[in-house]
Order: sequence, then structure tokens, then C-alpha cells
Amino acid sequence: MNEISYLRVSVTDKCNLKCFYCRPDNSEFVPHEEILRYEEIARLVRAMTRYGLRKVRITGGEPLVRPQLEELVRMLKEIPQINDVSLTTNAITLAKHAEKLREAGLDRLNISIDSLKPDLFFQITKGRLEDVLEGIRVSKKLGFDPIKVNAVIVKGLNEDEALDFVEFGAEYGVEVRFIEMMPIGGEQINWSEEKVKPLDEIKRKIEEEYGKLIPAISIGSGAARVYKIEKLGSKIGFITPISNPFCDGCSKLRLTAEGHIKLCLRTDEELDAKPVIRYGSDEELDSFIRKVLIEKEISNQKIVKSGYAFSDCRRIMTSIGG
Ligand code: SAM
Repeated sequence: MNEISYLRVSVTDKCNLKCFYCRPDNSEFVPHEEILRYEEIARLVRAMTRYGLRKVRITGGEPLVRPQLEELVRMLKEIPQINDVSLTTNAITLAKHAEKLREAGLDRLNISIDSLKPDLFFQITKGRLEDVLEGIRVSKKLGFDPIKVNAVIVKGLNEDEALDFVEFGAEYGVEVRFIEMMPIGGEQINWSEEKVKPLDEIKRKIEEEYGKLIPAISIGSGAARVYKIEKLGSKIGFITPISNPFCDGCSKLRLTAEGHIKLCLRTDEELDAKPVIRYGSDEELDSFIRKVLIEKEISNQKIVKSGYAFSDCRRIMTSIGG
């Protein structure tokens, strides 16, 4: 790998929801002074543009719990080479933040919703579905387009909602992407293969109802396989890390809130970028990034050779930035 196509930046490991597959009850938080400041994140992003970085996604934890997030958006948008800044959010407080984010130049939004039934939504997340829907409505009015909605499908829990999600996507004008539940966080999230709903089955069900899905493209779709539903004029996507992994050629990196570069979700391999971002010279930062590129290449090869095993990712998703 000699280019970085995409960096996901976690700005906090705190979250205002408690999704069982993401943040177990006993999770601890990184102390405030360990968290990268916005200027530090921007410094790393700027340096990475020399290695091809053009797209940044802000995530968490829940990124909107960090104060003045629009300041970070503004800093990233001021970097001339960065042409796409997006945000992944649970949207619980989006209605009140969307306008400031839009003004700061945020390009796109991904919003997580795992159930369209208020009771089940609460059971999964401990939050209110209506707050999220209001966030979507406000964001649509402000002109965010496309808005993508991510739904983690868990067998026996929300798999029966696939068609409802499709209808919802068409009604709200959002692109729904179904995701298979991953074993991120090891034993802490109680993952088992029985909980994974292979998304091919969902795809077949949708085709039975709406006719053949037409392969399509979508801005920043990355890992998703995207299709058009002609009958509804909408798009949907499938992200299948378990049943059909997509690691080959991956050049995506993740920056955790405390400044570790995580090479891949499948392992715990990380490089601590904070010392060099905080105290290093430009040359030292540059040489650190080159090391990251080399390590990412090695890590990719190991994962492909292992048959795409999820080997030892003990960090929970909320501390990584999914
Ligand atoms: N709080 C924000 C949100 O809810 O979108 C951003 C962080 S959250 C960790 C990012 C995404 O990771 C969410 O869509 C969430 O559903 C997904 N996620 C978390 N744990 C997961 C797991 N074990 N398997 C698959 N997706 C997961």
C-alpha cells in the first residue's frame, strides 16, 4: 500500500447510547487529556494528504457529544486536498447540531438506526427513535444529500424489518445499508455466528418483493455493495464483513480518539500516533506515516492469508470509531 484513500477519525469514545453490540455496560473512557485536540487531528490529516488522503469521516463513540464539532469540520475543510468530510452519528442530537455542521462545510451524513420500531429501538440502544427521525428530517431540509442509514441486522432481533427499512429509505429519501454484526470487542459483546444474518438472504427477500436489484454506485460507498430498486427509485446497500469480506486492497485507516492508528478492524494492531503528532517535527510525522503505510500493507497480507479471520480485536467498537 502506498496511498491512504480514507481516514476515519474518532473524536471521542463516549456515547449517549448503549447499543449492546457496540458498548458493553462496563466500558471505561479515555481520560480527557489523552484525547487528541482538533488541531492535532487536523495536523495529522494535513500530513496524510501527502500520501493521497482525500476523504475523512468523523465518528466516535458519538461524535456529537464532543463540544464544537463544527470547529473540526471547518479545520478539515480548510485543507485544500480534502474534498469529502462526512460524519457518522446516531443522530440523537443531530436536529440541534445539523445547521452548524452544514455551515462549517460538512459534506455528508451517515446515520445509524437498527430498528424502526420505537420499543425495539429503545431495547437495542436505550434511546428514542423519534429524536433520530427528527435529525434526519432537519438534515434533509438543510440539503444534506445523500444521507445514508446504517442498520446492523441481528438474527432473531430485527431481521424481519428488512422490507420496512426499504420502504423507509424510499419515503425519507435516504440510502439504507444493511450491516452484518461483527465480533468487535471480543467476548465483551457476546458475539456468536448464530447472531449473524447473512445479507444475501435479505437481498433475496427484497428481490422477491420489488424485483431484481440493479447494481449501482453511490458517493463514498466504500465497503458497501449498492443497488438500485427500480420500482421505488431508491438505493440500498449491503456491508458483509462476515459472509463476504472485502479486505483485499483495503487502504482505509482509523484514528482512535486517543491518537492510535488502527490498521484494521479484524485485529488489535495499532500504532500510537499521539507522541509524534503532539511533539514531533514535520519530518518525524512524515516518517511515521510511511511506517503506517508499510504496516498496513503487512497487516492486509496477513488477513487475506488467514482467510479473513477476525483474530483478536478486543477493543470495543465505541472506542475504535466504527
Ligand atoms: N455513534 C455513531 C453511530 O452510531 O453511528 C458512530 C460510531 S458507531 C461505533 C458506528 C457504526 O458502527 C454504527 O453504525 C454501529 O451500528 C456500528 N457498529 C458498532 N458495533 C458493531 C458491530 N459489532 N458490528 C457491526 N457494526 C457495528
